[in-house]
Amino acid sequence: MATHQVKKLAEGRKHQNMQNDTKASQGQWGRAWEVDWFSLASVLFLLMFAPLIVYYFIMSCAQYQCSLTDPVLDLLMGNKHLSDIWNSTPMLTYKAAGIYSLWVTFQVVLYVFIPDFCHKFLPGYVGGVQEGAVTPAGVVNKYEINGLQAWIITHVLCFVNASCFHFFSPTIIFDNWIPLLWCANILGYAVSTFAMIKGHFFPTNAKDCKFTGNFFYDYMMGIEFNPRIGKWFDFKLFFNGRPGIVAWTLINLSFAAKQQELYGEVTNSMVLVNVLQGIYVLDFFWNEAWYLKTIDICHDHFGWYLGWGDCVWLPYLYTLQGLYLVYHPVQLHAAHAVGVLMLGLLGYYIFRMTNHQKDLFRRTNGKCRIWGKKPEYIECSYMSVDGTKYYSKLMTSGFWGWARHFNYTGDLMGSLAYCLACGFEHVLPYFYIVYMTILLTHRCLRDEHRCSSKYGKDWKRYTAAVPHRLLPGVF
Ligand code: NDP
Repeated sequence: MATHQVKKLAEGRKHQNMQNDTKASQGQWGRAWEVDWFSLASVLFLLMFAPLIVYYFIMSCAQYQCSLTDPVLDLLMGNKHLSDIWNSTPMLTYKAAGIYSLWVTFQVVLYVFIPDFCHKFLPGYVGGVQEGAVTPAGVVNKYEINGLQAWIITHVLCFVNASCFHFFSPTIIFDNWIPLLWCANILGYAVSTFAMIKGHFFPTNAKDCKFTGNFFYDYMMGIEFNPRIGKWFDFKLFFNGRPGIVAWTLINLSFAAKQQELYGEVTNSMVLVNVLQGIYVLDFFWNEAWYLKTIDICHDHFGWYLGWGDCVWLPYLYTLQGLYLVYHPVQLHAAHAVGVLMLGLLGYYIFRMTNHQKDLFRRTNGKCRIWGKKPEYIECSYMSVDGTKYYSKLMTSGFWGWARHFNYTGDLMGSLAYCLACGFEHVLPYFYIVYMTILLTHRCLRDEHRCSSKYGKDWKRYTAAVPHRLLPGVF
């Protein structure tokens, strides 16, 4: 539903009878209020093991040429003790702390103090002040969309440094990779803990907070829906997009520079990873306004899952392919490289077009054309916590008629392409596709559970019309 219509409805406060089961819908929108044992076990597992998983992958590359089995075998056979591995791990350095502090501060400055000018000269780009979706409490937040600008400024400065000024080496990120990991962890934990305290004592919008009473669940999944400092510093938008996603392409470029330094050339596999992931990152910033309507911003609360995840998990594990290629420079046969490129581009096309179809459909309130025809849809209604009734539509044509999350399918195809670019010698680069499959399948189930609570009987009509989730006829 277009945002201005939502606002009109909110202003009008038209309380109407609900067709759906109101009690079930109210308060069920967004993340859970109650924690079942499985969710709690998953939360505890992730809190304990996610940081170790990141460490294990990065350490395996640094000490075992990216072999995931050798460290375990070494430990089991008594060749090494845990302390040997730990003692060989670079510690936090002043240099890394300085680089990281400068990096984050620079991104904060770009985000808070430089209003977007890209939308003034880039045709078709939506930037500047934009409205997010209506929150469960009926609030519509405003956001300064300037991520593309931050990405361009950052990359231009790095390019100018590499080609003219040489203040720092283009391999600086790779050269400080593990010390920077400790810095990213410090920020990730600090921001998650701050968000938890803020949610309890000085929330931005108390009505949009959720408490389960379980400390670990609240810490992980967040209490506040949209924590902010001042009018514009929005935690979710900042940490989701920057520093992590702006860093993604810089990290890959640093890995390419390291390949050049070590072997005197950049392999075609490294070029493919840089290009395909670069397209994904640029797409993210080009569509940052659209991103305000995705699950991360529309439904997830801000806790460790987003705070630590954006600071540590994303920059360290989404870039594993490039890291792997520094240790194993793979030169692909032309047919293999073309196959990977085609798969990556097709995946990207499906991902973008599916997301675009929904965005267009929602923006125009269904008054648009999808594949040359009027879109088909199901009318739905839901209620916010203050009892205001809203209307929405679920599209059942275009890619959204093929499967309920065909955008995830496109994303998975692209993810597989990054992994295939690394050849077949090691499993480490394939972690990404395994992780994305788990993430997006879980996300799909989580989203459907939420939509079912939100739309009630209307959701059932929708799932009857579009029976499959990711792959038509299969799942
Ligand atoms: P979606 O963009 O699919 O958004 C789901 C929401 O869209 C639902 O909650 C519902 O919201 C609405 N919706 C569902 N079905 C329909 C329909 N038929 N017609 C209209 N609206 C519908 O999910 P995400 O926000 O998770 O993902 C956005 C993109 O980001 C995806 O392409 C995904 O692959 C990508 N992504 C990438 C990640 C990564 O780490 N690389 C992580 C997460 C996502 P409402 O309540 O408004 O009805």
